[in-house]
Amino acid sequence: MKANIVLLPGDGIGPDVVDAAVRVLHRVAERFGHEWTFSKQLIGGVALKAGLPPLPPETLAAAMKADAILLGAVGDPSFDNKPPAERPEAALLGIRRELGVFANLRPARVWPGLEEAGPLKPSILAGTDLVVVRELLGGLYYGKPRGIEKDNSSAVNTMAYTRPEIERVSRVAFQLAQRRKRRLLSVDKANVLEVSRLWRNVITDVAKEFPDVTLTHELVDAAAMKLALAPSRYDVIVTENMFGDILSDEAGAVCGSLGLLPSASLGAGAGLFEPVHGSAPDIAGKDIANPIGTIASAAMLLTDGLGLHEEAAAITAAIEGVLRSGLRTADVAPAGVTPVGTRAFTDAVVSAL
Ligand code: NAD
Repeated sequence: MKANIVLLPGDGIGPDVVDAAVRVLHRVAERFGHEWTFSKQLIGGVALKAGLPPLPPETLAAAMKADAILLGAVGDPSFDNKPPAERPEAALLGIRRELGVFANLRPARVWPGLEEAGPLKPSILAGTDLVVVRELLGGLYYGKPRGIEKDNSSAVNTMAYTRPEIERVSRVAFQLAQRRKRRLLSVDKANVLEVSRLWRNVITDVAKEFPDVTLTHELVDAAAMKLALAPSRYDVIVTENMFGDILSDEAGAVCGSLGLLPSASLGAGAGLFEPVHGSAPDIAGKDIANPIGTIASAAMLLTDGLGLHEEAAAITAAIEGVLRSGLRTADVAPAGVTPVGTRAFTDAVVSAL
């Protein structure tokens, strides 16, 4: 396969971890006979420092023409006092909106050997391997009316969804469930919110298109509790924007370091693949960032972006092999284990491939 992949390393540790993922993608191309064309573009603080907007028009134009986009992270403390539109983070909302990526996939799993890296007892965490599918372009974060009175006397946000918005993200979740354990859990607050009742009705209708998948429902408060008590009982969870924002962070946190978590944002066109973590200015440029989240995002790029499942599985197996061999970056190294750097960990993944 030939594919045009746009790289947006961004700020802080972004360039380190994107570089790691690109080395892995080169090795995949070599092993499986693919041809990738990489085009590196500016985004976030590095774009601002070059006198450009946080999402420069050339960057957006390249992303719109790409087959897939791999993003590192944006965020630079030197812009902390600027208005929102002049901050690096403005680029994130902009690129997601322009690409029309409405489904955000956030896997959370325990990597072999890292059962102790999270806050839960290893016996509770064992076997956890789930994906939260979050609706990304609707709900409370976008609904109108919205606003706050100047005198701070009142404020309003609006949670609103239409049937087509729920149908399209539901289909992504059902298709994902078909590739996994054929179980889909929809999370809502249908006992209180009319929007959630619509959500439940629509997804129940969409379920008729996927008779091989079992759909169940859970209220968001119960789901939040059980995710911390028994994360391994979950497989694919689909939910609206704000509930998904909260539950996907919770699911990631129970599994350990932020550096381990990948994500994919999918729409009608090219997908956007990025680790969940930010630019980590405290460890930038020190060759200590954990590259697993970004390398696993590259695996999602192959499977969810380009349909290359075998190649993605090979990346996952390589990461697992390296972890089994005992190599650890500083964020997940237990006491007594000397950590390796970003580059050395990546070298090991590349040679395992
Ligand atoms: P962060 O995710 O950058 O860092 C939080 C903590 O986790 C830090 O201690 C960091 O060292 C550690 N960490 C993060 N990624 C790691 C990795 N790969 N390996 C090892 N340790 C890792 O969050 P923050 O400190 O709240 O934010 C820093 C900047 O990133 C801010 O400007 C914020 O706005 C931005 N941000 C960007 C994104 C994004 O680009 N998608 C997401 C979150 C935050």
